[in-house]
Amino acid sequence: RAKADVTRAVCFYESKMDEASRARRSLAQDLRRAIELDQLEPYYQVQTSVLTGDIRGYEVLLRWNHPELGSVPPSEFIPIAEENGLILAIGEWVLRTACQQAVSWHTPYKIAVNLSPVQFAHADLSKLVHEILLETGLSPNRLELEITESTIIADKTRTLHILRQIRALGVTIALDDFGTGYSSLDTLRSFPFDKIKLDRSFMSEVEQSPQAKAIVRAVLTLGKSLDIPVLAEGVETDDQLSILRIEQCDEAQGFFLGRPKPLNQIFRQGPAIANDVAEPSSGRLPPA
Ligand code: C2E
Ligand code: MG
Ligand code: MG
Ligand code: MG
Repeated sequence: RAKADVTRAVCFYESKMDEASRARRSLAQDLRRAIELDQLEPYYQVQTSVLTGDIRGYEVLLRWNHPELGSVPPSEFIPIAEENGLILAIGEWVLRTACQQAVSWHTPYKIAVNLSPVQFAHADLSKLVHEILLETGLSPNRLELEITESTIIADKTRTLHILRQIRALGVTIALDDFGTGYSSLDTLRSFPFDKIKLDRSFMSEVEQSPQAKAIVRAVLTLGKSLDIPVLAEGVETDDQLSILRIEQCDEAQGFFLGRPKPLNQIFRQGPAIANDVAEPSSGRLPPA
């Protein structure tokens, strides 16, 4: 009886595994057609001033509305797109679409678009950014591009060259997920970033851990010394926001201030809504 149960469980497990790897393979295939089938959608998450609560801009976060799986998070499809090169087409599409959408807003908020290391390695990125700005008519000072340290580590000389070209267009550059990479301080020495985005792992611990709080303080001091504003990612509570206020952090972003939302929902309500609704969850694949 027990043995039969185990056998049944194992079969069930194996068929699930099969399903998972099939799903992952077909996910890559489905992604190839996602743009033309209009399944990709930029979501927007608000970034606010810590001192005044004023809206400073919106980060563009890509969503894939898969017909069967529902909303697939970027942590699942961006790595696939980076592996098979689709990130070039997807990255260009996000940039163009977000710039087009931002032009149509009544209020000239900034938008921040994430870039993949692959885009630096394989595309004439500064030319593309320039073309999209001309084509959409978005004012360059409304565009911010976010890179992580992995982009710089991949090819420092090339990356810095491209960043300088992009910055010369009047576009600003933010260093994303700061504090989790391998060479944070060297990165800051190499390029005049316009913003440092402190990784959200520090925020999640700042209330309980004196170490996390000390690091937050140190990064804010560093930002002040280098004259680079710091944005804290992953602010989920009022208490975290209060700490940031006391420590004089410049900007904040996180679920407490606003979840990433589709375009037609971002201007419906002001910032700082504690009972903000979550995105519908769905379609997550089991681990590899
Ligand atoms: P990221 O650029 O660091 O974006 C912030 C991530 O943190 C987003 O996840 C956002 O939804 C999430 N987040 C924001 N506030 C909170 C909070 O208070 N608590 C928690 N737990 N999470 C919060 P998302 O949208 O799943 O994106 C994950 C990553 O995927 C992004 O990290 C970025 O690296 C990448 N990504 C998203 N869109 C694009 C894109 O268009 N192009 C590229 N290359 N990468 C993208
Ligand atoms: Mg980002
Ligand atoms: Mg980040
Ligand atoms: Mg991240």
